[in-house]
Amino acid sequence: MYSIGPLTVAPGERAQGLIPVGISTYGVELGIPLIVVNGTEDGPVLCVDAGVHGDEYDGQEAIRRVLAEVDPAGLRGTLVGIPCMNTPAFEAAARTSGLDHLNLNRIFPGDADGSYSLRLAATFVEQVVPAIDALVDLHTGGTFGEIAPLTIVQGGYEDLATGIGLAAGHRLIWKGGKWGGTVRHPTLAAGKPAITIEAGGGTYREENVRLHIDSIHNILRQLKMTDGEAELRDDYIAVSGTFARSAAGGFLLGHAAPGENCKEGDLIAHIVDHYGNTLEEVRAPQDGIVLWVRRIRTVRPGDEVVIFGEVQGEITP
Ligand SMILES: [Zn+2]
Repeated sequence: MYSIGPLTVAPGERAQGLIPVGISTYGVELGIPLIVVNGTEDGPVLCVDAGVHGDEYDGQEAIRRVLAEVDPAGLRGTLVGIPCMNTPAFEAAARTSGLDHLNLNRIFPGDADGSYSLRLAATFVEQVVPAIDALVDLHTGGTFGEIAPLTIVQGGYEDLATGIGLAAGHRLIWKGGKWGGTVRHPTLAAGKPAITIEAGGGTYREENVRLHIDSIHNILRQLKMTDGEAELRDDYIAVSGTFARSAAGGFLLGHAAPGENCKEGDLIAHIVDHYGNTLEEVRAPQDGIVLWVRRIRTVRPGDEVVIFGEVQGEITP
């Protein structure tokens, strides 16, 4: 038997249900929706989550499809899907929660006595992390931007997470994420591999759903949960990310696409006022790869415009 939250799932069975976090003003139970497929043979528990940011859709659909398709008879271990972690942010069609306006991916491990997002994070740490062996967290560039397909392996946890990180299949490995409070952190701190996979933006695209589905299947093979050899690339590129913010507000004109190589000094974007006068130019601070670009044309002072990736070297599996 496998147990997580309110669910107990026998070998060979599927289940779905909600880990409760609170009651909405409509009197409806809010919480973490789970889909579980328990394999007929022993193996690890892989959890795949999406919707930590409510305006990132591709991963949510990818999880539903993989969980619907995976056959418990051919599965070693258990696959846990959390298609939409942050339902109040999804309802708001926004990155942050409509209830308390917090960014869920900056506040882990949360606080059981805090506002809704803090309670949600604390519930994940208390009830999900102990019940899983590995975590794959799916994201996109969100409504505001578009990101190159890449995998984030947290700096300091390379030994733990690089294996599934390479199996995610993307050439770019972002070593870092200096910011804290992500859903990865409590999982890694518990000694369990956790990665984030990024692709696309806030506009739902079938090609990005497919990318996420392929990543999940390859990680299942890597963990020996399904048959077949995981496919790995010959080489991967390790990058670090630098966020560039603009001092000037205005209308953004972009000149680089996510994944594009750039040389130091290349014009990545410029910001104009309503008369067409250039207010600011954004140039590549070093040679590297453009990881994320802003897609929303409105730029307010201090907004993120681009994330540059500085190449740190190659990783050979
Ligand atoms: Zn995100």
